[in-house]
Amino acid sequence: MKLVFATNNQNKINEIQGLIPDSITVLSLEDIGCLEDIPETQSTIKGNASQKATYVKDNYGYNCFADDTGLEVESLNNEPGVFSARYAGEKRDANDNMKLLLKNLENQSNRNAQFKTVIALQIEDKSNTFEGICKGEITTKKQGKKGFGYDPIFKPNNYNKTFAEMDLDLKNKIGHRGKAVLLLVNYLNNII
Ligand code: IMP
Repeated sequence: MKLVFATNNQNKINEIQGLIPDSITVLSLEDIGCLEDIPETQSTIKGNASQKATYVKDNYGYNCFADDTGLEVESLNNEPGVFSARYAGEKRDANDNMKLLLKNLENQSNRNAQFKTVIALQIEDKSNTFEGICKGEITTKKQGKKGFGYDPIFKPNNYNKTFAEMDLDLKNKIGHRGKAVLLLVNYLNNII
């Protein structure tokens, strides 16, 4: 079976291809000639993931899955959430985003937060979603150089370091995206 992963991030594709059954070939958006920006206009992480998967199925005919991730901060009404990538503006700059988040949490004692990834799968007319959550807290300053996005200011519960101070293997094991991927892979293993 061919399954499109609605991303052009080759790292994400390689990672998934190594995890799912050999009988499934994972294709990127580029592989199927989808070069336009897929609309992400929903108000929730789950809505955006589903919108992307449905778009590919409806416009290109391929079975597909898509992921969407957001950082939800408890004392900020779960913001930036669906706006995580462009929290500080359309430049989508990770440093600007972190700076704004740290400023908005100044003097805030409740720094609880969670990363949420939703993967939406569209096979023929059947839709499923898989959710991975990683709970933790926002630090008061940046720590570490690894990873991307908000990693330098997110410390997962039960660990004394931020995602940006962790090896990728550990982040994948305890992280939001890894958990959602595991649920997807288990599902695919059961249906083929
Ligand atoms: P996307 O849905 O994977 O594109 O993620 C949206 C935004 O959430 C990214 O631009 C990052 O700012 C943030 N983000 C997603 N995953 C992570 C992560 O694992 N660590 C830190 N930030 C992340």
